[in-house]
Amino acid sequence: MKYVDEYRNGALARAIAAAIAAEVRPDRTYAFMEFCGGHTHAISRYGIEDLLPANLRMIHGPGCPVCVLPVGRIDDAIALARQPGVTLCTYADLMRVPASKGASLLKAKAAGADVRMIYSPLDAVRIAEAEPERQVVFFAIGFETTTPPTAVALKAAEAKGLGNFSIFCNHVLTPVAMRAILDTPAAEGEPPIAIEGFVGPAHVSTIIGMEPYREFAENDRKPVVIAGFEPLDVMQAILMLVRQVNEQRSEVENQYIRAVTQAGNETAQTLCDEVFEIREDFEWRGLGVLAASALKLRDKYARFDAEKRFAITTVHADDNPACECGAILRGQKKPAECKLFGTVCTPDTPMGSCMVSSEGACAAHWTYGRFREHQAKRQSAS
Ligand code: SF4
Repeated sequence: MKYVDEYRNGALARAIAAAIAAEVRPDRTYAFMEFCGGHTHAISRYGIEDLLPANLRMIHGPGCPVCVLPVGRIDDAIALARQPGVTLCTYADLMRVPASKGASLLKAKAAGADVRMIYSPLDAVRIAEAEPERQVVFFAIGFETTTPPTAVALKAAEAKGLGNFSIFCNHVLTPVAMRAILDTPAAEGEPPIAIEGFVGPAHVSTIIGMEPYREFAENDRKPVVIAGFEPLDVMQAILMLVRQVNEQRSEVENQYIRAVTQAGNETAQTLCDEVFEIREDFEWRGLGVLAASALKLRDKYARFDAEKRFAITTVHADDNPACECGAILRGQKKPAECKLFGTVCTPDTPMGSCMVSSEGACAAHWTYGRFREHQAKRQSAS
């Protein structure tokens, strides 16, 4: 398939791996964070870490929209779905995210709540149009990639004059999360996370472009290389980061030139700016409450705002205390360091959001990484 097969070419992968190995200096270590869950997934799926030198470490970042949604917001969505006359529309991977007291949207649906899985926000608009007696709420989550489709859905509902459609808005902002990661103090008894550069988001950057990452390169001296989601994209981005570090450069570079431009998608940016404004603050799983880190509907669209229509007041709810999702999302721990990983917590019985979404580090590691670990153990034992 065009733009897929050529980015999964094994011979090219080996050539890039050889270039990385040749350029990595043996007298130092390297640590890069891949911000996106899509990159985490690619790294696990294609065994990219196995192709990297031992002194180059990849750290998983918080760029999985399902993973960073705090428990309190899932509780809100479940409470909404349980209201008589309400239909809650959501993406499938939110259905099984554990909420307070063992609840989930899937369990609420099984108990009779009208929760429907959709593929696009416009599906929710169509449901609202077809069922005017229902109050249809779209549970909107995601980074800058999924924000424009939510805005499009709102405009479609407005054009159709729908009075029974609203949005429970949970859209969050990538650069603020990157800033939070860089400013995260070391966990008690642990060394600080020494991130030397970022593999920058792919899809997010098609919308926001390259400019928002400049502060990390210029002020923090952390290079950013925006990369696509195929294995050769990720490997080339790692090579570009190694070169920047070796040459003591700190720039925003674009590996994903087939989709990302300097300015991003200005049409989408204008639409989003018209529909959304920045919240004062927002809670993230793992990162805490971050100022100016999420979006809400502008007052002129208040009639589409589910938080206003249903008087939602989010209450903080604690994560499962045994779940290490928070530390994993901050890059402080790896999935296998959680005591529940692969025992109590598997994709069939997720105890935390990182095991639910395919972009979650625990799910990616469970699906692909655990086999390699067992293999390595077997080989070292024989
Ligand atoms: S393995 Fe499960 S419980 Fe442990 S951090 Fe991951 S999602 Fe949380």
